[in-house]
Amino acid sequence: MGIVVQKYGGSSLADADAIKRVARRIVDVKKSGHDVVVAVSAMGDTTDDLLDLANGVSPLPPAREMDMLLTAGERISMSLVAMAISDLGFTARSFTGSQAGVITDSVHGKAKIIDVTPGRITQAIGEGHIVIVAGFQGVSQDTKEITTLGRGGTDTTAVALAAALEADVCEIYTDVDGVFTADPRIVPTARKLDQVSYEEMLELAACGAKILHLRCVEYGRRYGIPIHVRSSFSQLHGTWVVNDPAAASEGETMEQPIIAGVAHDRSEAKITVVGVPDKVGEAARIFEALADAQINLDMIVQNVSAAATSLTDISFTLPRTDGQTAMTALARIQAEVGYDKLLYDDKIGKVSLIGAGMRSHPGITSKFFGALASAGVNIGMISTSEIRISVVVDENAVDDAVRATHTAFDLDADEVEAVVYGGTGR
Ligand code: ASP
Ligand code: MG
Repeated sequence: MGIVVQKYGGSSLADADAIKRVARRIVDVKKSGHDVVVAVSAMGDTTDDLLDLANGVSPLPPAREMDMLLTAGERISMSLVAMAISDLGFTARSFTGSQAGVITDSVHGKAKIIDVTPGRITQAIGEGHIVIVAGFQGVSQDTKEITTLGRGGTDTTAVALAAALEADVCEIYTDVDGVFTADPRIVPTARKLDQVSYEEMLELAACGAKILHLRCVEYGRRYGIPIHVRSSFSQLHGTWVVNDPAAASEGETMEQPIIAGVAHDRSEAKITVVGVPDKVGEAARIFEALADAQINLDMIVQNVSAAATSLTDISFTLPRTDGQTAMTALARIQAEVGYDKLLYDDKIGKVSLIGAGMRSHPGITSKFFGALASAGVNIGMISTSEIRISVVVDENAVDDAVRATHTAFDLDADEVEAVVYGGTGR
């Protein structure tokens, strides 16, 4: 009889009927003797609609007001879910992130949780209520302003609550049956993973698998919270994200598969700084300017400088949404660094192959590149970690690259297992 934390995503809360269905699921858990705390996302495409609305009103909405606007989406769903629960004869209390004690830093639009003080939640639980918390939001410790955690942030709210409440499990309810070997919207023969390790899930999330928010996985790993990713549209068991999948499979000494999956990402852009003088401190200066602008970089490649000119090119990828800020920050230091020019390309995509078994199996890279070559996909940039190989390709080649890689590593299921129950994929 412990605490169960659940998260329901926007597609599970798309309309009144969906909300009533979710309320029944929540009540069932309460009936089975658990205390339940639920983090909810905004209904359906609400967050996108609010963003469109803001951009219709102003080309550059102030970040503070954007957070005030977007957090309203989760407030709508939390109160509706609480109403639907009370209709089933149980009592629920809804709380905004701020009321629930989700304390963040002060960076609007991508705030980080620094503490959770769930006093009001534990009090409500003690009084026998089901607790519903608005996801994706908190309150800044310094500025006292309302903040948002970045797109998809409700996953992180849920795991942070689970950690603070020492919950038994954090269930993430979504519109597919779990974590798949590739996005089922691109690869219909993708297979569901029964288990995946935190470290593989971190790489999958960082490489564009939208199933879980990256910071939610980081949080889960740090506090050892088992995360169960499953569908709110079926009763099937989903995917368990755990520390050591082999140990979790009830003593079976089964070897883990070499490859966990193929992820892709179409949200990045590439900037090339052309003609950087090849001398000490230049790269530091460039990346300092980007860090000052709060930009998270992904892949970085510096070419060997041409002997004749002693000039080099530095390319890196970054979120497309930060493209303009980065170009402005770099333009400001052009004279100081003495580079030639900047190139910007946002017609790129990233495809990544991920698997802990890569450490001990040679030949993965050649098979990956071979698959891309057979599919006629040209590689623009390469980066690797111990358990991941990523390539940048043309935006239009992403789907082909994902499918070819998935097949080359024998990840295809014999029958179609992947059902996409909801969501517009918007
Ligand atoms: N509603 C927010 C979004 O669409 C947060 C979330 O869904 O987790 O990004
Ligand atoms: Mg969402």
